[in-house]
Amino acid sequence: MRRFDLAVQTSHIGVFTIGFLVALIGRGLGVFALSLKWAIAIWIGSCACSLLFRMLFRRGIDRRIVNPLWIACDIAYPTLGVAITGGLDSPWFIWYLATASGAAFATSKRTVYVVSILNTLAYLGVLMAMGQIAPIDSAFLYALTRMIFLFGASFFFLMGVANLQEKRLRIRQLEAEENRKIAELTRLAEELKARTEELADANRRSQEADRLKSQFLANMSHELRTPMNSIIGFSEILVERLDGKVEGKHVNFLRHILASGQHLLSIINDILDLSKIEAGKMEIFPETFDVRQVVESVCHVMRGMSRSQPNLVIDFPDDLPQLETDLAKFKQILFNLLSNAVKFSPPERPITVRAQQIGDTITVSVSDEGIGIDPKDHEVIFDEFRQVDGTAKREFGGTGLGLALVKKFVELQGGSVRVDSEPGKGSTFSFTLPLTLKAAVISRVQPLPVQEAGPDVRPADCVLVVEDDAHAYDLIASALSSAGYLSIRARHGEEAVRMARESRPCAVTLDLVLPGVDGWEVLKRLKSDVATREIPVVIISMIENRELGVALGADDYFVKPVDRDRLLERIRKLTSSRASRARLLLIDDDAAVHALLEEELASLGYDIESAFTGESGILAARAATPDLIILDLMMPGMSGFEVAGALKEDAATANIPILVLTSKEISADDRRELQSKVTTFVQKGTSAREQLVREIRRLANA
Ligand code: ADP
Repeated sequence: MRRFDLAVQTSHIGVFTIGFLVALIGRGLGVFALSLKWAIAIWIGSCACSLLFRMLFRRGIDRRIVNPLWIACDIAYPTLGVAITGGLDSPWFIWYLATASGAAFATSKRTVYVVSILNTLAYLGVLMAMGQIAPIDSAFLYALTRMIFLFGASFFFLMGVANLQEKRLRIRQLEAEENRKIAELTRLAEELKARTEELADANRRSQEADRLKSQFLANMSHELRTPMNSIIGFSEILVERLDGKVEGKHVNFLRHILASGQHLLSIINDILDLSKIEAGKMEIFPETFDVRQVVESVCHVMRGMSRSQPNLVIDFPDDLPQLETDLAKFKQILFNLLSNAVKFSPPERPITVRAQQIGDTITVSVSDEGIGIDPKDHEVIFDEFRQVDGTAKREFGGTGLGLALVKKFVELQGGSVRVDSEPGKGSTFSFTLPLTLKAAVISRVQPLPVQEAGPDVRPADCVLVVEDDAHAYDLIASALSSAGYLSIRARHGEEAVRMARESRPCAVTLDLVLPGVDGWEVLKRLKSDVATREIPVVIISMIENRELGVALGADDYFVKPVDRDRLLERIRKLTSSRASRARLLLIDDDAAVHALLEEELASLGYDIESAFTGESGILAARAATPDLIILDLMMPGMSGFEVAGALKEDAATANIPILVLTSKEISADDRRELQSKVTTFVQKGTSAREQLVREIRRLANA
């Protein structure tokens, strides 16, 4: 726009100069008289004005101010030209056309009309001033007609130019606008690019942080659980082996070490669980199960664990549907609530577990009649490390993590927790879970099979416990399970004989006082049947009659209450003679694990070969083809993952079952990676021993 305005003023100088030259030529030709002095003065004045307006435009003065000024000059100079070239006789009036064209060129159609009228008025005015016309005389009309003709004839030309110029101006405007927009868009695009790069960078950093977090959790888990595993494992062995051989006081010391180790491990597990949830790394493995059975089994474990023999009551409706959720987490939620109920209520008061279906949810509640909780504390007890009494003189121990974990586990699975309690009136903690899992992060990887007692129990693993009293059965079963045996129960004599024949257990424990056929009769029948004659029988009874028992073919005779360790030792002896000595290969970099397992497994009748690195493990597996390989995952050099892969690729070792024994957190990714290579997992820790022995029996005897 500015360039255009400047160009108009520059061309004005040309037009004025041409006008001046035309004046000179006209004078030369004698067309009109001309005062040369005036002509030169007007020419210089008009050119100076154009230069002045050009400067004003260049300075950026608003064109709405400068335009009327130069148009006024444009009208004045031809009018002066008319005056100095003779007025009415002069052809100079033609130059008004240049003025109107200039206006059409630089402004709009409206200005053209105004300029035409002003030109006409100026022409008539100057002629009148020269005394050549008077209003409405014939000369006046002649001059007016002249102007009307001039502008009438050039009307379309002038309108066309104005039109074109208007369009041109509009286009210029649009172009300027477009350029401005393009510049703005380019700036935005650059900004966006910078932001995107920033975001990508932040994303990379957060992924890296995520990876480091996972690695840290895995490493912490490994570093903390490995020594705990040794402390617990060795003290368990020592407690078992030294009982009766050293002073009772010293065995008690060992029991303290064991209990402290177990306690410490459970705290470590809680903290690791919490950090896993916080880091968004907690995975959920959905399973469908019967709530009642699971609650019963947790109560069973609870009774076995606490010294006070808590009075646990299960109050369930018969038509409770199955629940789909993470079984391990469900058990832990329940376990934490039950432990609190036991801890905070007197031993004789009942603790009731109820369950109820409401719509498509199940609510499980644990009620106690203990000390209760003030309503003002109801919120805070679910926070980490918060206890109602966290002071140094508090009466009850604990870390304040139990309920925090309960809340997080429940919420992770799409449920909610609540507490109803008043001081002195007991507490009811309840949690509600959807019948089908609605968790945020569900790992659909099937957990690798872990053998539980079931119809495919192998004879080598299982002991038939003939016992009509449920409580007595629980005691024997828990002792057996700690040594890696699975128990199956017969409630009366006939059932015992039938089950011995069908299940072929590796041993039978037999109570003598039974409903119906008594224990003596059962013993006779077992020993007279070829199918069951070889199965060792241990009598466990209130009645002392060892001679008769042995005479009838019993292998040993225990009087209740049974010394748990002696019973286990006896059963081990009786069963190990039957089992062939399976050979195991242990690949683990930790010497303590070797020492621990060798001690433990040798007494169960296994030969163990050791390898301390992945490479030597593979060589040993090829050379010796063991019945089972026990493999650690985290080892320097070749990791357990690589070892498992290499073993499965080699035809000589591909069929050897692999049991992963690790203190590493096994993530869904790990499971996926190992699924096709590894037969089963055991996580080092408190419950590892039992599970390990059970798994080894199952796999090595397969
Ligand atoms: P901890 O039991 O290790 O202290 P929890 O998170 O399990 O930690 O419990 C937090 C606190 O809530 C407890 O310290 C106790 O004050 C209170 N509490 C939990 N359960 C009960 C209960 N059944 N009866 C009374 N108080 C309870």
